Amino acid sequence: MLQKKNFHLQDYNCILCNQYRLETRDHLFFSCPFALACWKYICPTFMPQQSVHDNIMGIKKELQVPFHMEIITAVNWSIWRTRNDYIFNGISPSLYRCRRIFKDELNLVFHRAKRKKYHAMQSWIENFR
Ligand SMILES: [Zn+2]
Repeated sequence: MLQKKNFHLQDYNCILCNQYRLETRDHLFFSCPFALACWKYICPTFMPQQSVHDNIMGIKKELQVPFHMEIITAVNWSIWRTRNDYIFNGISPSLYRCRRIFKDELNLVFHRAKRKKYHAMQSWIENFR
């Protein structure tokens, strides 16, 4: 996006995988090996699809919970924060750290959830490996 807007950087490649792949939305959040490892943690059969919509539908189908969008958003947010922590704070990306961010974020989202959904959400995260 920055490249399209003529914002000049030294490098537009993904820093999470070092495979000299352009850091596009689809690469960063779904097909990057780092993102893929994050998704496999939550959806073991996840395989990146051609579009964001197809990725979301595949994840929704596998999770089978009414709060799948909260989970998808929290995973993408944790990938984004892991990337930014490396770029702006020099913190090396790790799956452990990304998972920690994911759980913390999801806990915050669940605490804001309506009481009706809260117990199902809490049960899901407690059973999360
Ligand atoms: Zn990558």
